[in-house]
Amino acid sequence: MPGVLQSFSVITPSGRQVDVAFSNDSSQISALRSLECIQCRNITYNGRKIDGCHHTICQPCIDNNDSLATGEHNCDGIIVTGKTLTSYSIETRTLLDNLIVLCPFSDCNQKALLSDVDQHIRDHPAVDQHIRDQINPANGSLSEIQIANDPDELPPNSRWIEHEGIIYFVVESNPQ
Ligand SMILES: [Zn+2]
Ligand SMILES: [Zn+2]
Ligand SMILES: [Zn+2]
Repeated sequence: MPGVLQSFSVITPSGRQVDVAFSNDSSQISALRSLECIQCRNITYNGRKIDGCHHTICQPCIDNNDSLATGEHNCDGIIVTGKTLTSYSIETRTLLDNLIVLCPFSDCNQKALLSDVDQHIRDHPAVDQHIRDQINPANGSLSEIQIANDPDELPPNSRWIEHEGIIYFVVESNPQ
């Protein structure tokens, strides 16, 4: 893809995978590399640093694997455990918030801050119309379209569709 040299992608706060725009800033690249989850290799907005080493574990992996919550991982060839996990520092959050990422829709590819890209995706005109066409009941007035990571998270009385790997839903105001 033109403009993308280093192949980093990041998981947004809403769980959407986006590519990081071209970076030739070597300190930024090494900072990003240190944020890759030791388990799944994703860089996520919600992750924890392992105290005493340069590794990171993402929250979804911790949620799926109790041993990761103890910091157990293969640390450069040695299995370690009993580590404390700490939330990202302000510096790390700032780095992530200010990352320039590409809109994941191939006909758009607009650059946006990571902290803004979920809103950009949500406001996407083409997506919006596509979603509205599919999700809108024939007579209904539509409440705000929201994004979920997983169908299990949906509130009751939701209508939802999946589009390009993302779940859009609306909560019906007066279900019958
Ligand atoms: Zn992970
Ligand atoms: Zn380590
Ligand atoms: Zn876009």
